[in-house]
Amino acid sequence: MTMQFIYDLTFSELSNVLKEWDQPAYRAKQIWQGLYQHLYSSPAQFTNLSKSLREKMAENLTFMPFTVKVIQDSSDGHTRKTLFELPDKNLIEAVLMHYEQTFNVERSTSPRRTLCISTQAGCAMGCVFCATGQMGFKRHLSSGEIVAQVIFYAQLLKAQNETVSNIVFMGMGEPFHNYENTMSAIDRLNDSEGCNFGARRFTISTVGLVPQIRRFADEQRQVNLAISLHAADNDSRVEMMPINKRYKIDELLEACKYYVMKTSRRVSFEWALINGINDTPEVAKKLAAKLRGLMCHVNAIPLNPTAGYNGKATNRQRAILFKETLEQAGIPCTIRLRRGIDINAGCGQLAGANSS
Ligand code: SAH
Ligand code: SF4
Repeated sequence: MTMQFIYDLTFSELSNVLKEWDQPAYRAKQIWQGLYQHLYSSPAQFTNLSKSLREKMAENLTFMPFTVKVIQDSSDGHTRKTLFELPDKNLIEAVLMHYEQTFNVERSTSPRRTLCISTQAGCAMGCVFCATGQMGFKRHLSSGEIVAQVIFYAQLLKAQNETVSNIVFMGMGEPFHNYENTMSAIDRLNDSEGCNFGARRFTISTVGLVPQIRRFADEQRQVNLAISLHAADNDSRVEMMPINKRYKIDELLEACKYYVMKTSRRVSFEWALINGINDTPEVAKKLAAKLRGLMCHVNAIPLNPTAGYNGKATNRQRAILFKETLEQAGIPCTIRLRRGIDINAGCGQLAGANSS
């Protein structure tokens, strides 16, 4: 029998495995709680199970098939990036960001711990400003490979008496290109008998795959949705983001309206501010006109540098002017902090290589 990756299993699949092993039904629940509540990392830790069952688990199920290749901390100590090697030698990265002095949604004073998780090795979407896009597509991650990145960091934080506050799918890859596995990973982490990680603490960021946005809206998930927009007209967007050949801006914004209508949830637009390209007051006005009437918010972030793109980051002054122009036109905007740039852990800088 081939080894099965334990985080790939849904609860009912795990129950079936145990049934095949002639185990009583409650064993599945014990194992599930061990995995997702106690965050056990090996069969030996399941001391509530018999020795023979632990041995059977060790023979048939793998726990962490990732090799941790490199762990890097940013110089400000707020960002940690981990490079994992998968069994087939593909590389993926996941990032932990610490936001000290902020309040989380429950308004407690505990610091936020946000995880930025990958859904694919590489990416097929080819956005020119993005290091993952520049490396091309390698493969989809399985649901368990997505879950395991979260578990890895949750274990690390647990050792310091801390927990994960938010999970954003803004690492390598396009989550809606790997829709089933991404949703299945969310379901597993959301399960109330396991991690019990609330849907509203997840954010999916997409390049703008229209059919999947509509499907996501129909499923009425409480997960936050962010759309990588970066341009306010088709001519400029297509130069940066090839996907715009397939789904034009108006069609994309229609799908966003549908999402807001179906879920009553606000949509966020991601905007990498590139000097002289998409950061002028004229562009801000054009964008505001496009977004008028849509319940939304713009997240602007000065472009992070990548090897394959010449564009430069907007400076602080221009970024503030962009934000103010949008807000005067009635569109809320925040300028996000750049994080972990010195270790290439910022948005769009993940490329599965120890390049810094
Ligand atoms: N594929 C998804 C999620 C991963 S990219 C998406 O594109 O939305 C995460 C975010 O980083 C996206 O908003 C993306 O547009 C942005 N991004 C990519 N390259 C960037 C760069 N060089 N600087 C700043 N943001 C970047
Ligand atoms: Fe892929 Fe997102 Fe990068 Fe575009 S920005 S290439 S969709 S990871």
